[in-house]
Amino acid sequence: MSSFTGRMKEYPALSLDRFDRDNIFSRAYFLSHCHKDHMKGLKGPLLKRKLQFSRTVRLYCSFVTKELLLSNPKYQFWSQFIVPLELESPTQISLVDEASGEKEELVVTLLPAGHCPGSVMFLFEGSQGNVLYTGDFRFAVGDASRMELLHSGSRVKDIQSIYLDSTFYDSRFYQIPTREVCLNGISELIGNWISQSSYHVVWLNCRAAYGYEYLFTNLGETFNTQIHVKNLEMFKKMPEILSYVTTDRRTQIHACRHPKAEEYLQGNRLPCGCTASDGTRLQIISIKPSTMWFGERTRKTNVIIKTGAFSYRACFSFHSSYAELKDFLTYLQPVHIHPSVIPMGRTLTEVTQMLKLMCRDQSDQTAFVYKPLGVLKRSRMEQTTNDSGSDDELFDGRDLAPVRKKMGLNQEEEEEEKIQSRQRTAPPVSVDESLPPSVADTQSVAGDYVDCTESNGEEER
Ligand SMILES: [Zn+2]
Ligand SMILES: [Zn+2]
Repeated sequence: MSSFTGRMKEYPALSLDRFDRDNIFSRAYFLSHCHKDHMKGLKGPLLKRKLQFSRTVRLYCSFVTKELLLSNPKYQFWSQFIVPLELESPTQISLVDEASGEKEELVVTLLPAGHCPGSVMFLFEGSQGNVLYTGDFRFAVGDASRMELLHSGSRVKDIQSIYLDSTFYDSRFYQIPTREVCLNGISELIGNWISQSSYHVVWLNCRAAYGYEYLFTNLGETFNTQIHVKNLEMFKKMPEILSYVTTDRRTQIHACRHPKAEEYLQGNRLPCGCTASDGTRLQIISIKPSTMWFGERTRKTNVIIKTGAFSYRACFSFHSSYAELKDFLTYLQPVHIHPSVIPMGRTLTEVTQMLKLMCRDQSDQTAFVYKPLGVLKRSRMEQTTNDSGSDDELFDGRDLAPVRKKMGLNQEEEEEEKIQSRQRTAPPVSVDESLPPSVADTQSVAGDYVDCTESNGEEER
């Protein structure tokens, strides 16, 4: 859940992902993606009024985000003020103070963030240096090294600040299985179930949020079927997704929703009320996408947890794990890192402190005077070999970093050890209290998962 207040120190004339309070005075707005916690104030009357009287204020976002936003009538008033930008295409924009006419020029580049349809990061390049606002993102290990626009020639761009999706910046969340691994686990579970008979059906207990489309399209493809959803409204501008979802209930995979869905399931009913036409009782299993995490040295990463006779949790994450975040930060070596999210069970001070240790060593500033283009980029070949995300490989990667950096990492470990020892008495992660007793038998690492919390904000359950 983003707690970013909307403005960056370097470029305070613009606002990102927050549109309330002081952000009302901004000269330009940026929306990274359509999740409720990034849209505060976006349909507010003050902003609406401001737009009516302004000649230059615009909202910048990706084309997909524009479509998703405007598919909701409450945001229609933005339609003529949105400037959709192509991905990975640097664009110059002018931030104009309408009272004085004073202007600030800035180049902005949208980078795909891998979080949900349309989600992007914003890279700003201007008089105050290069600043990267990540929005919410999920990058695998090595992804940053493959992004052309984070580089200048063969070198990494000199990044002054990163405003980071720090949701899982805590060593407890060291590994979160990759999208592919999670999908394979879910596909296997579903395949084993629905192949038993046509009365065997699956209900995917997803929230009303953009981000599950990856799951729907892949399952649709794998099982040559369509997924039953409550309505097609939110997908109408996404043709590549639209072909995998349906409002026809006669399918074996459902992701439909109902306020009393959980109760329905107890009675062996689907949220849409669908029953077999010949009166045969349906055999239903429910699968709840949840974020699961595993420790640094854990080899076992079971992406499916059985939580009841007919219910499961399946790993699914919209955000990068701790190891993925560390890889991202180690690669980019920004001067400053500002957390946008406070990890569960932490404080802002703690996460800020932990992130400080990932910043470029300030005593090394002289090196940057003589090498203004920044540190030498690790070769892309080396990066791609890290793709499996295994912890051993990650640690091998550290040897590539200069000595000063290594010291930083050791300090970090010590610091984290200190923080962790203070945190040991912290209350455990809250888990679903209504789990049936059988859970104890099936769940070996109790509590290392939570519900996915993203939301579109409209028809919230
Ligand atoms: Zn989000
Ligand atoms: Zn249904």
